[in-house]
Formats: sequence, structure tokens, C-alpha cells
Amino acid sequence: AADIIETDAVIIGAGPVGLFQVFELGLLEIKAHVIDTLAHPGGQCVELYPDKPIYDIPAVPVCTGQELTDNLLKQIEPFGATLHLGQEVTVLERQADGRFLVETTKSTRLLTKTVFIAAGVGSFQPRTLKVDGLGKFEGSQLFYRVRNPAQFANKNLVIVGGGDSALDWALHFVQSSENKPESVTLIHRRDGFRAAPASVAQMHALCEQHEMQFLVGQVSGYEENAEGQLHMIKVTGNDGITRRLPLDMLLVFFGLSPKLGPIAEWGLEIERKQLVVDTAKFQTSIPGIFAVGDINTYPGKKKLILSGFHEAALAAFGAAPFIFPEKKIHLQYTTTSPKLHKVLGVE
Ligand code: FAD
Repeated sequence: AADIIETDAVIIGAGPVGLFQVFELGLLEIKAHVIDTLAHPGGQCVELYPDKPIYDIPAVPVCTGQELTDNLLKQIEPFGATLHLGQEVTVLERQADGRFLVETTKSTRLLTKTVFIAAGVGSFQPRTLKVDGLGKFEGSQLFYRVRNPAQFANKNLVIVGGGDSALDWALHFVQSSENKPESVTLIHRRDGFRAAPASVAQMHALCEQHEMQFLVGQVSGYEENAEGQLHMIKVTGNDGITRRLPLDMLLVFFGLSPKLGPIAEWGLEIERKQLVVDTAKFQTSIPGIFAVGDINTYPGKKKLILSGFHEAALAAFGAAPFIFPEKKIHLQYTTTSPKLHKVLGVE
């Protein structure tokens, strides 16, 4: 069909390792398309810890998850990879001619000679609040992430969760000058948090100043008003008593559950939810399909960004024969190779 994109390489996942895979392929003059479920590149670094400092990237003494991502995007700029964001890869099928068909939830279709699975812990799916019927408010009054803080302004906001996201957003809203809610109530099932102690202390201080409220308990039910809007939740405390709490907006931060998702159905050898690869090419059990970063496993594997970068370099060399069967590929240095200077555009 005319709408199919033909390419040499498809990278599934725009986390740090998927982004660096673009670079390593680019040096070998292999053009890539990158696909990610998230609406932004950066994988775990941006989704889970954009502002936290990373200290173990070689020769970068400290950078945040967002800075690492921004720098990787700058580094791969010369290679003009196409990013297809906000779509999950659901289909990966070998075709009769040996190429692979890749399809996404937004109906993007690609035919490629090689595939690099850099899918990390899988597609990010927030863990949901399990209360029967509550799901219908998702997107209107129930949210699992904050896309637009302004929609919480002047509302009675309830935040559920006991990790950094719950704490950070509670503090953010209470102290917000632009988007201050009418009220902020934090609910957690116990009086102990998996969050930075400083944030917890600050939350308790704000409660003492009556700037916000903290309740121990679990959301066990809800009530809607005549217009079908969520206007009350029921919170069952550890004392067994259920209390009713009026609200306009509910924000839930139960973390993200690593879902391998469709990757499990592609016929690749899997061990404990990771793709088995060799350590010479980081190729999976299907020739032409490589796996790099947190998604792969091999003896001695460590889930570190720097390991993923190494894997991406070797996987690119491993893939080159699929794209240039006639060509012998030599290692060249970016410092001294005129050819690499040309592909990097630094001549
Ligand atoms: P990820 O970053 O997980 O990215 C994978 C991407 O693939 C995701 O964006 C996902 O949406 C996408 N994806 C998955 N399946 C599909 C699909 N079917 N279709 C489309 N897209 C898909 N490592 C360090 O080296 N140093 C540190 O200091 C460090 N600190 C950390 C702190 C925290 C709090 C956490 C959680 C991790 C930390 N890590 C650290 C680990 C590091 O973040 C990971 O090793 C790294 O993000 C792995 O990169 P990746 O590209 O393999 O996968």
C-alpha cells in the first residue's frame, strides 16, 4: 500500500537508549524511525524522574533526566530520524521478503530491514484506582497524570498516593500562585511515605498551617450528583470507619506498572519479561530484531543507561550486514574520520 513507510531501521522506544541507537545507526549511515507510546521522548528519565540528578553518565558529572534527554536529542539531530510519538507498536511481523512490518495504534505502518526494541520496562500504563464505576470519570474528573495544571485551579482537589509524584503534586498545588485549588486533600493508605523525607515534612507543616489536609485511608466508593458528576468519595480509614469527602477533582498516583504489552506476542524468546539477546550483537532470537536497554537480558545484565549505550553501539554494527550485505564495515573514530565528520555535518 502507498501509505507504508519503507526504511532500514525502526526503533521501538524513545527512551535514552532508543535515542542513542539513532546516533549509533547514523554513524553507519543507517536511517531510523523511532516510535514511542508516550507523547514525549525520554522514556523513564522524563516520565519518572525529569528533575532528578543522574550522576553516572560517563563524563557528565551530573545532569537531570530531562537534560540527558535534551542532550541526546541534540546529539542525534544530524541524522534526521523521524519520531512517531503518542502511539504504541502493536504489530511486528516478518514478511515473505525478510523485512518486518511494524504497525502502531495510530495506524502508522512501516516496512523495515531491521528492528531495535528499546522498550525499557514496557509501555507506561498508570496503575488505576480500583473502585467499581469510577473509571467513567477518567479524563473529566479523575486523572492519573497532570497534563494541564490550570484545570485544577479553584477546585476541591483530592490527591491519592504515597510516593514522590503524589507528594510533589500536592505541594505544587498548595504553593501554586496561578493554579491554586480551592482545597487540597492528600489521601494515603498509611501514615508513611515512599517519598523524599523533606517533601513529607513540608506536607505535614502545611497541614499544621491548615493549608491542606492529609487523611489516612483508602478510597472505597463514590457518589455522583444529579448531573452525573463525581461530587463525593468515600474513604475508609484504618479505624474501619468510612467517611465522605466532597471533591471536584481526583488525582491518583499509584505508579506505573511495567507492561510488556504486545512485545510478548511477537514470538521472541523471553525470560522473566525480558528479551533474551547475545552479547556480541544484542540480537534477539529472531535475526534482524535487536533488543537494547532495560528490555533485554543476558548474563551479567545491569539495567543502567550506560550499559544501554554500549549495547546500542554493538547492535548497530550487528545490524549493518542486513542493510549493506556487500559492505565491510570498519570502526572509525568520530575525532578523525572525514567520513564521520560528513555524516555528523561538522566539516
Ligand atoms: P526506557 O527509558 O524505559 O524507555 C522505553 C520507552 O519505550 C518508553 O518511553 C516506552 O513508552 C516505550 N515503549 C515500550 N513499549 C513500547 C511499544 N510497544 N510501542 C511504543 N513504545 C514503547 N539509570 C542509570 O544509569 N543511572 C541512574 O542514576 C538512574 N536512576 C534512575 C532513577 C529512577 C527513579 C528510575 C526509575 C530509573 C533510573 N535509572 C537510572 C534507570 C534508567 O532510567 C533506565 O535504565 C533507562 O531509562 C533505560 O532506558 P531505555 O531506553 O532502555 O528504556
